[in-house]
Amino acid sequence: MVSGISLDDHYTVPGRHWHSLGDGRVQCDVCPRACRLHEGQRGLCFVRGRVADQVVLTSYGRSSGFCVDPIEKKPLNHFLPGSAVLSFGTAGCNLACRFCQNWDISKSREIDRLSDAANPDDIAQAAVRLGCRSVAMTYNDPVIFLEYAIDVADACRARGIKAVAVTAGYLTDAPRRELFNHLDAANVDLKAFTDDFYRRTCAARLQPVLDTLVYLRRETDVWFEITTLLIPGHNDSDAEIDAECGWIADNLGADVPLHFTAFHPDFKMRDVPPTPPATLLRARQIALGHGLRFVYAGNVHDAEGGRTTCPGCGAAVVERDWYRIDHYRLTDDGRCARCGMELPGRYDGPVERWGPRRVPVSITSGIRS
Ligand code: SF4
Repeated sequence: MVSGISLDDHYTVPGRHWHSLGDGRVQCDVCPRACRLHEGQRGLCFVRGRVADQVVLTSYGRSSGFCVDPIEKKPLNHFLPGSAVLSFGTAGCNLACRFCQNWDISKSREIDRLSDAANPDDIAQAAVRLGCRSVAMTYNDPVIFLEYAIDVADACRARGIKAVAVTAGYLTDAPRRELFNHLDAANVDLKAFTDDFYRRTCAARLQPVLDTLVYLRRETDVWFEITTLLIPGHNDSDAEIDAECGWIADNLGADVPLHFTAFHPDFKMRDVPPTPPATLLRARQIALGHGLRFVYAGNVHDAEGGRTTCPGCGAAVVERDWYRIDHYRLTDDGRCARCGMELPGRYDGPVERWGPRRVPVSITSGIRS
């Protein structure tokens, strides 16, 4: 694919993690796709490409828009509960999921429709001004805009704002280490638990995602939670859910929160029905059977699937309805108010009350009307 990449473009910056192949091509090493590029070509993610014999990022400082969301929407249930997060994304994606729920952004090749020019410190300042505790790089995967994502994260941290990524975790070792070194929290999509699903449905592979999860657990302090979108007939069999939950228990431990979320027909999977509530219930029971302690049902009204239970005394310490917190019985440092047991997560002060609102904002002029 040849398209107008230019180093003169204000939004194009030199990329990191690539090398020359010796056959006239250069290889991007950010993700396992290893796109091999001739001059003027873009990679599958579309926002990285080759110009002047180097790999560049063409979306630095360009955003597809900003919203203030509840942190529970990312979803993160154990990270600054109830707080507002400033969310944004750019364009493009390094996976090709047929069920993509953000395809208008992730599959966008019309970079010019990206609406908000946003340098990293503008974003951090906006988060402070809007009362957000964190900034989330979401809507599309920050892996593909790694250089921008890292600068945004650093700008946020310099102003006391946490940096969050919502990611498929599909990247190679060196970029993985670089990116997560700058982040405070992540939600990682574990899209299924078979390599066949990843190959057929996402044009990707399972193992690099598992490598990311193990890396996060064993080598970082990044708080992370996992989401699996259950798609009827594709990744929701008892055997597959059982294998996933067993792997999580064995490799990540029982305290990593797991969110099962409901699919709605979208993009290239409009012929698949929505996930029935019974599937979410079944998945939760399998996960709990493996000893996982914090298993949630998302994208549905489900009192049980929205509840956090204290592993120490069995008290319902947080009760949620979708993204809204209805009851909260944790101390400011995240201990059960009844038995004092410390819950895993990141807690810093009283619960906040942003609620379920999703408010589009312009980071230069405030809340959009
Ligand atoms: S980040 Fe983009 S250009 Fe680089 S290997 Fe992945 S899909 Fe290809």
